[in-house]
Amino acid sequence: MTTIKYRGRFAPSPTGPLHFGSLVAAVGSYLDARFNGGEWRVRIEDLDGQREVPGAAVGILKTLEQLGMEWDGEVVYQSARTHLYHDAINTLQSMGVVYSCTCSRKEIADSSIVSSQGLIYPGTCSAKDQRHFLSKVHALRIRTHNDPIEFRDRLKGICSQRLLSETGDFVLRRADGMFAYQLAVVVDDAQQQITHVVRGADLIASTPRQIYLQQLFGFLTPHYLHLPVAVNAMGEKLSKQTHAAPIDISNGLQQLVAAVQFLGQKPPVEITEGTISCFWEWAFKNWQQHLIPH
Ligand code: GLU
Ligand code: ZN
Repeated sequence: MTTIKYRGRFAPSPTGPLHFGSLVAAVGSYLDARFNGGEWRVRIEDLDGQREVPGAAVGILKTLEQLGMEWDGEVVYQSARTHLYHDAINTLQSMGVVYSCTCSRKEIADSSIVSSQGLIYPGTCSAKDQRHFLSKVHALRIRTHNDPIEFRDRLKGICSQRLLSETGDFVLRRADGMFAYQLAVVVDDAQQQITHVVRGADLIASTPRQIYLQQLFGFLTPHYLHLPVAVNAMGEKLSKQTHAAPIDISNGLQQLVAAVQFLGQKPPVEITEGTISCFWEWAFKNWQQHLIPH
């Protein structure tokens, strides 16, 4: 068996077209992979049918192609892999770390502490007799603990979180049957043998929850690098919710230059005025992780 030295990924949610914020994550993960002689996979995180915009996944892939970004292997769609998440929950259930939660939104809002990560669920249902829940619509949560979960981010250094007090027991499967991002991302990163995760810093607080799940499953923990997040003039993260403009493909090179400059890289003038293929040729060789602002 050959060991994979570097396999990275870009994992967009198809909630709208690629915008500058998601382009930064795409470019950062792509360059880190290519600079290190690694593979770069694309995974469409389309589990949330309610937030998905029809055509967005195809549009994102097309934009990546138009920008000259070449992924390795087949694109993976989470919506086609729900059996994997189902099996993963069974595994956790057999360990006795999963419980059913029938709290309504209002009950959760009334009983939880508000944190930057959302509501910290106080574990209301964890001590209840689970037999009562079987016939009722319920979410599935995982029991957490308060031992610190630590990891070393390649940019920010050591990060640590105590899940029980900082996030609470979190959801693995919602009451409507949707598998949670935290579960799916752990299953997929392991199943796809991802060795390096490069993504926006808005997800750094999710990483300890993901490491906790990896530890329970006995999966390897990938290396993590969390990139700075692009914000608009109001200081809000660029996203569909904040009405970020789609990438204008008619000036693709300028968009790429802006993305690498945002990541602290210094493309020379002739590269910023040349072609997309010259840009990538330069960028693959000149990616400097230490220049990324943090
Ligand atoms: N699908 C997530 C997003 O678009 C990214 C997940 C990840 O990189 O772990 O924000
Ligand atoms: Zn509950």
